[in-house]
Amino acid sequence: MAIDLHTHSSASDGVDDPALLIARAAEAGVTTIALTDHDTLAGIEAASVAARRLGVRLIPGVELSVDHGGVKLHMLVYFTDPGTGPLEDRLALLREGRARRNVAIVERVQELGYSITMADVQRQAGGPSVGRPHIADALIAAGAFASRDDVFEQLLHDGGPAYVERDRLTAVEAMELARSIDAVPVIAHPKTISLDAGGFDELFEDLADKGLGGIEAHHPMHEPALRSHLVDVAHRLGLAATGGSDYHGAGKRPFSIGTGTGDLRVPIEAVDEIEQQRVKNR
Ligand code: AMP
Ligand code: FE
Ligand code: FE
Ligand code: ZN
Repeated sequence: MAIDLHTHSSASDGVDDPALLIARAAEAGVTTIALTDHDTLAGIEAASVAARRLGVRLIPGVELSVDHGGVKLHMLVYFTDPGTGPLEDRLALLREGRARRNVAIVERVQELGYSITMADVQRQAGGPSVGRPHIADALIAAGAFASRDDVFEQLLHDGGPAYVERDRLTAVEAMELARSIDAVPVIAHPKTISLDAGGFDELFEDLADKGLGGIEAHHPMHEPALRSHLVDVAHRLGLAATGGSDYHGAGKRPFSIGTGTGDLRVPIEAVDEIEQQRVKNR
């Protein structure tokens, strides 16, 4: 029995369509799963149909890229039932911003000597939320690179030669939006935030004051000591300590559904803790 509160489907940059994702979760013994595609809820409906059929509990979610005073981070939002107007409207604007940015990135990639087009990128994307991973996929399909990781390392990483910034919500906007629809905002994979050690305490405390509901402690990129440290920090601040695999499908990142790189164990209590955050907000 396992739970996994961070996964991606083909509605954003995952490989598996939402129904297949749920089938794979069931097969892996995952009893509760959150679908957290980037900037879209498009996969939720199909995932929830499959989840009902297979007896898996689905928590609808989304992953947002936000800015907090110049610091970039990802925010997971849980309990985003489709049809929740303000969030969906904002997501549509974010996807438009992505579309403009993708064109600009492809232009840079072309200037760097690679002959891919926006049509190639579109062919790689199965759903409405298109981004850098699909540009990477187009470059791989063209034979220029071997993996998404290689493309990110050489071209697409933040500040890289083909990098272009995009519209972002502020963390505070994202948290307010989430709370306004009774959803719970959680800082994703803090390990990827570039801050020094002292900066993290300040960031967590600051965001906790402004509506944060949790911290993703269990993530494949977190070493065991960091996971337990983040659980302690979350609980000390009265926040949920959550976790998930960040599964994107076979061959995209080395993270398996439910288990990450093998040692991921997300405690079942994480779900109760997120639910308590919803109640606390009422
Ligand atoms: P975007 O949302 O278009 O800015 O692209 C960011 C997404 O690219 C992240 O959320 C990851 O899913 C993916 N990504 C970031 N770094 C890497 C990497 N080194 N290898 C593969 N995928 C990555
Ligand atoms: Fe992703
Ligand atoms: Fe992320
Ligand atoms: Zn993710």
